[in-house]
Amino acid sequence: MRYQHVKVVIVGAGINGLCTAWQLAGELDGPEIVLVDRFLPGHARGSSHGEERITRSSYESAEWVAASMRSRNELWPALEAAVQASLVVPGTAVFWGPEDGPLPTYAAACRMAGSRVEEVDVATARARFPHMTFAGADRVLHDHLAGVIAAARTMRALEAWLDAAGVRRIQGTVASIAEDDTGVLVKTADDAIRAEAAVVTAGPWVGALVPALRPRALPLRQHVGYWQMDVQAGRTPPWVHLGKTGLHYGLPTLAGGVMKAAKHRVVGSEDNPEVEVGPDLLELDEVGVQLREWFAPGPGPRIDADTCFFTAVKDEAFILEEPPGKTRVLAVSACSGHAFKLAPLTGEAAARWAVRVAG
Ligand SMILES: Cc1cc2nc3c(=O)[nH]c(=O)nc-3n(C[C@H](O)[C@H](O)[C@H](O)COP(=O)(O)OP(=O)(O)OC[C@H]3O[C@@H](n4cnc5c(N)ncnc54)[C@H](O)[C@@H]3O)c2cc1C
Repeated sequence: MRYQHVKVVIVGAGINGLCTAWQLAGELDGPEIVLVDRFLPGHARGSSHGEERITRSSYESAEWVAASMRSRNELWPALEAAVQASLVVPGTAVFWGPEDGPLPTYAAACRMAGSRVEEVDVATARARFPHMTFAGADRVLHDHLAGVIAAARTMRALEAWLDAAGVRRIQGTVASIAEDDTGVLVKTADDAIRAEAAVVTAGPWVGALVPALRPRALPLRQHVGYWQMDVQAGRTPPWVHLGKTGLHYGLPTLAGGVMKAAKHRVVGSEDNPEVEVGPDLLELDEVGVQLREWFAPGPGPRIDADTCFFTAVKDEAFILEEPPGKTRVLAVSACSGHAFKLAPLTGEAAARWAVRVAG
C-alpha cells in the first residue's frame, strides 16, 4: 500500500474532475492535489469521451442561461489562455419546436437573462440556414453565443497542464472514502490517500461512492450516431429540436463532413455503468428518420455509433453538496447532458468549497 498525505483528493478525472483540479491549482500548490481515476485517460466508459460537444447559451431557465454565458464568456477563454490552446470553435446554434413544447420557456429565459438569442420566424431561419427545414416550427431561436467545444483536445490539454503544475494523477478504483474529525481517507487497492477534503466527480458512478445520491442521480446510457453530411463546425450550427415529448440534438463534427446526432434521454430506468453495451441501432434509425425530415438534402449513411452516460437528475439539476453526515466530502453530479460547457464553472464552485474546507 502506498501512503500519501495531501490537501485535496479528487475522485474521477472526467471533465468535472479535471476542471476542479485546474481551478484548485490556482489556489493550492499542484502537489497538494491528487486526482484519482479508475481508468486511463481517453477511456470511453463515462461521460467525457468523444471529440466534440455543443456550447450554447439557450436554456429553459434564466439561471442556466446566465451560467452558460459566464462559462463561455469568461471561463473558457481563461482555460484556453492557461493551456495555450484553442478549445472552442465559436458559432451560433438554432432551436426550434412547437409552441406547446419547451420553446416558449427557452425564449422567455433567454430574454430574462439578456442573452444574445434572437427570435426569428421560420422563413428568416430558412434563409439563414437553407439546408434546414425547421419542420413543425412556428419560430426559431438563433443563439449567437454557441459553438463546438473540442472535447478530447480539452481533456488532453487539461491533463498536460495539471502534470506541468505538479498535480498528481493516479490510476486506481476508489473503494472507500472515510471521514473523521481531521480529514478523509480515500482508499484504492494500492493507495491510501489522506487529505483535508475530497471532491467526488465520479460521473455515472457517483451513486456507488455516495449512496445518498443513488436514488437521485440516475445513470442513463445515451446512443449517439454519426451521419455523412455536408457540414462544418463554425459554418453549420449545432441544433436542438425541442419536441413536445423529448429533445433531439446534433452538431457538425470537428473533422467536418459528418453530423453527430442523438435523442436526449433523461428519463427511464437506470443503466448499469459496469456493463458495457453497444449502441441501440433501432433508436439511431429513428434519429436518422428525423434527420431526413429536418435537413434537405438529408444525411448520407450512418458511419459510426457510440454510447455515453448521462447522470440524470430531476429537472436536469446539478448536485454539488456534502452528503448527509459529511463535512469534508463534496459530491458533484453535474451531467444530465449539459455539463461539458459548464465544467469550468462547476470546477470553480467545487474548488472554492475545497479551499474553504482544506484551508
Ligand atoms: C452523448 C453525450 C452528449 C453530450 N453532449 C454534451 C454537449 O453537447 N454539451 C455539453 O455541455 N455537455 C454534453 N454532454 C455532457 C457532458 O459530456 C458530461 O456532463 C460530462 O462529460 C460529465 O463529466 P463528469 O466528469 O461528471 O463525468 P465522467 O466523464 O463520467 O467522469 C467520471 C470519472 O470518474 C471515474 N470514476 C468513477 N468511479 C470511480 C472510482 N470508484 N474510483 C476512481 N475513479 C472513478 C470514471 O472512471 C470517470 O473517468 C454530453 C454527454 C453525453 C453522454
